[in-house]
Amino acid sequence: MSYDTNNIFARILRGELPCIKLYEDEHTLSFMDIMPQADGHALIISKEPATTLHDLSPEGAAACIQTTQKIARAVEAALDAPGSLVMQLNGAGAGQTVPHVHFHVVPTSIGQLRAT
Ligand code: 5GP
Repeated sequence: MSYDTNNIFARILRGELPCIKLYEDEHTLSFMDIMPQADGHALIISKEPATTLHDLSPEGAAACIQTTQKIARAVEAALDAPGSLVMQLNGAGAGQTVPHVHFHVVPTSIGQLRAT
C-alpha cells in the first residue's frame, strides 16, 4: 500500500498538528495518545514514511524498539505502574486506524487487563 503523506501522524511529524511530546530523536517521535486507553498511554512513531512495520528499514525498526523501551520504562516509573502493554497494529484488517507505523505503550497491571 502506498504511503499517505497526509495521515495524522505525518502531519504531526511536519509540525502541522500539535502533540504532547515525550521524546524525539533522529529516527523517532513519541507523544501522548489523544484518546488514551489508560493514564499514560503513549505512542512511538518512526520518522520514516512507512505505513506498517513491514515497510520499515531494519534501522528504523530497531530505533522504534529502542524508543519503545525508553518510553515504557519512563511511563511505568512516572505512574508507578507494575507493568505496561506494548501494541503494534498492521493494516486496517488488524484494527490500525492511522496509516503510519506506530507502537502503543499502555501502563497497566494484570488486574486492569482482566477487568477489560
Ligand atoms: P491504531 O488504532 O492505528 O493502532 O492507533 C491509532 C492511535 O492514534 C489511537 O490510539 C488514537 O487515539 C491515536 N490518535 C488518533 N489521532 C490522534 C491525534 O491527532 N493525536 C494523537 N496524539 N493521537 C491520535
